[in-house]
Amino acid sequence: TKHFPVRKRLRDLFSRTPTAVHAVDDVSFALRRGQVTALVGESGSGKSTVARLLAQLHRRTAGDIRLHGVSTTVRGGRAFRSYVRRVQLILQDPFASLNPVHTIRYHLTRSLRIHGNAGRTAEDLEKALGELLTRVSLTPAERYLDAFPHELSGGQRQRVAIARALGADPEVLLADEPVSMLDVSIRLGVLNLLRDLKDRLNLAILYITHDIASARYFADETIVMYAGRMVEGGDSETVTQNPAHPYTRLLIESAPDPDRITGAADATGQDRGNGEPPSLIRPPAGCRFHPRCPHVMPRCKVDLPLRLEIADRPGHWAACWLYDPATVAAEGSASAAP
Ligand code: SF4
Ligand code: MG
Repeated sequence: TKHFPVRKRLRDLFSRTPTAVHAVDDVSFALRRGQVTALVGESGSGKSTVARLLAQLHRRTAGDIRLHGVSTTVRGGRAFRSYVRRVQLILQDPFASLNPVHTIRYHLTRSLRIHGNAGRTAEDLEKALGELLTRVSLTPAERYLDAFPHELSGGQRQRVAIARALGADPEVLLADEPVSMLDVSIRLGVLNLLRDLKDRLNLAILYITHDIASARYFADETIVMYAGRMVEGGDSETVTQNPAHPYTRLLIESAPDPDRITGAADATGQDRGNGEPPSLIRPPAGCRFHPRCPHVMPRCKVDLPLRLEIADRPGHWAACWLYDPATVAAEGSASAAP
């Protein structure tokens, strides 16, 4: 959970003086080696905050983050230091994360040195640099090592950012919209590279995206966030092909679909958009999606929905009262059945 304090100036604008932005609430999931987990949501859903929490760039308001079951509550402690080495963050904009006055060699050497992977001799270092660039398919290494970030394309820069993360010898990659700033034509190449690295190095990858279609392609498991909460999760094929939560369905309906005529799909997306995500300073009571939900029931406005398993789909859940057997009984299965 992460709540950001609201600045006083902003607080004065509200009569009931709320004190925090509820950016992330009760988000909880496990990453597994050799698996890609997608965290999908609109901008403002809290997904980047989750990435920053997992990278230990924010202090969490409540909860714990564990690696192999070991808590990282004590910042600066041994478990914490091991964690920040093993869990590496890749950002959306590689240009922003690479220092323009330094060469690729500088960036990669620094990563290798900080994490104790530079070896003892100059030859060791040169070999390690070559291996990093080969892993991200930037070869021959000599062509890239002494280049500056601006001399590379966006896709090449993102590969350098990935190589730098690999310099730490990580177990987990947190990839926050890693391809959304890249040309459509090269996105697939970078996603395929990440998948290939995941298999070869047995990494766990958290893939953060607003594009649910790419989650289906790239991720084994998909988790959907709305207004700071997890609303649905399960294996990617099921979540994207048979979405259970009304919000996930909205997300899929409004996603550009190459099989549809682009204009029609856009119009549909706008028509069904049915409003904006709510303010996280004063989130709606009960289900945060209730002001936009076509299936809203009286209890949705009061009770926070539990994560409910979808019948006959093990591992697939939705935080939605439609899947509560009690609701089905009360509302009549015909109207409640999605
Ligand atoms: Fe809609 Fe209620 Fe389900 Fe929320 S809990 S998504 S308001 S039906
Ligand atoms: Mg973001």
